[in-house]
Amino acid sequence: MSEQTAQEGTAGIRRVVVVGAGMAGVQTAVALRERGFAGEVSVIGAEPHQPYDRPPLSKAVLLGKAEDSAFDLDFDALGVDLRLGCEVLGARPADHELDTEAGPVPYDVLVLATGAEPVTLPGTEGVPGVHLLRTLDDAERLRPVL
Ligand SMILES: Cc1cc2nc3c(=O)[nH]c(=O)nc-3n(C[C@H](O)[C@H](O)[C@H](O)COP(=O)(O)OP(=O)(O)OC[C@H]3O[C@@H](n4cnc5c(N)ncnc54)[C@H](O)[C@@H]3O)c2cc1C
Repeated sequence: MSEQTAQEGTAGIRRVVVVGAGMAGVQTAVALRERGFAGEVSVIGAEPHQPYDRPPLSKAVLLGKAEDSAFDLDFDALGVDLRLGCEVLGARPADHELDTEAGPVPYDVLVLATGAEPVTLPGTEGVPGVHLLRTLDDAERLRPVL
């Protein structure tokens, strides 16, 4: 899409809200700015950490070569309203509003970038020696064990 077409396509849209502060959500916000969208952009993530890339969790972070894998981005400079540690509880499309732990959030356009949850096996929950690796917190728990 040309830049001109991208801007025409967002005419009248004042506020984009992205749920999920992983790779997909963050790249959506970056792409909106790169393509000249001048309205409000909010990214809401349930995790408390600065948005990070997951692949290094099973590599550099697990090996102790990196403490984290946060994206090298200045969200303030991008004009992106980043809300971390805030779970979105549901959407009310008729009202164009989300319900979050911190109260309602209005939107014109909603992007769901909520990723995927790991599939666990029955009988493995809480069993010593069985680990789940998806989040930075999981990697920090697993590193000393390995
Ligand atoms: C350990 C590990 C290693 C990996 N290695 C590789 C690799 O080497 N190469 C590769 O290509 N891929 C790899 N992947 C896969 C890759 O990381 C994923 O494909 C990618 O993270 C998907 O990004 P996403 O933004 O779609 O989802 P996610 O990374 O799952 O992000 C979604 C975010 O949304 C948030 N969220 C969900 N629901 C809500 C809600 N209701 N309210 C607020 N926030 C919410 C979650 O907390 C999460 O932070 C790896 C994954 C893991 C876990």
